[in-house]
Amino acid sequence: MKPLYPWQTESWQALQGLRARLPHALLLKGAQGIGKLDLAMNYAQSLLCEKPHADGMACQECGSCHWFEQNSHPDFRLIQPDALTVAEDGEEKAGGKKPSREISVDQIRDLSSFANLSAHCGGYRVVVIHPAETMNNNAANSLLKTLEEPTGKLLFLLVTNKPQQLLPTILSRCLSFVVHTPTREVGAAWLAQQGVKSPEHALAQTGFAPLQALDWAESGEGAEERGILLNAIRQPTKMDALALADSLQRSAPVHVIHCLQQWCHDLASAKLAGSVRYFPEQSESIIKLAGGASSMALMRFQKELLEARRAAFHPLNPKLFLESLFLSYRQLFAA
Ligand SMILES: [Zn+2]
Repeated sequence: MKPLYPWQTESWQALQGLRARLPHALLLKGAQGIGKLDLAMNYAQSLLCEKPHADGMACQECGSCHWFEQNSHPDFRLIQPDALTVAEDGEEKAGGKKPSREISVDQIRDLSSFANLSAHCGGYRVVVIHPAETMNNNAANSLLKTLEEPTGKLLFLLVTNKPQQLLPTILSRCLSFVVHTPTREVGAAWLAQQGVKSPEHALAQTGFAPLQALDWAESGEGAEERGILLNAIRQPTKMDALALADSLQRSAPVHVIHCLQQWCHDLASAKLAGSVRYFPEQSESIIKLAGGASSMALMRFQKELLEARRAAFHPLNPKLFLESLFLSYRQLFAA
């Protein structure tokens, strides 16, 4: 789960304030690229968590959080267009049919049995619909029926940046919740922290949507270094950690770590589910590599990366810092 963004503290507190008297449906609306979906997912996980922290954040440790992280919580559904799921999973649909950009009526109908069941874990059940405006007419009408017959402890979280495209009858059945765009200062400071070189420029380019700005920066900036890194980690047994650290010492360590995190996410996902998310074009090598690494070792390395990411903005010696990470990575495949 992604942490809350610094500009979401107030929204988070307001959402926590709703816990005691949750509506049946909540409409999270706001500009694109400001983290509305991440906010919704955090909220869903926090509602399902068995032992949330005092600030409402999910504990990340209970059985419920574990299920949630594995995308297999029985009391949770994420409904989004196939095109988004395919982009995330990197999997093509059988038959080569183009994945739909709409949420279909079947996707909403499938929910009705979920809506009528009682919660697996005795607490809430949560459905996130994202982006809600991509529901086609039939889907929207089908959802309307479900919203008209609310069942206890079932929460719909509709996420949208185009509320005007939703049926008025749906809008009227949702409690509206505005997710604010961060101020220029907060957005730029966050981007700088993520290693984006001209944060203000990047932010402006995207109409002040920090997540989108980060996306652009990461895909454009450092493309060459990323290529070098990927080429090396694809063949860990041939990797020269020192030489690699040497050739990457000028790139922002946070970029290198980010890339390694995505790569390891894919290794773990290939191991567990046989699918990858971030590097679909490398799925063959990733699946092969995943077979040679133990899950425990992989988890330990992911933890190491997480800690490294915290120290990544001011490493004393960037070269040494990277070299040690590369050595740990190579170690994954040593056995
Ligand atoms: Zn938990």
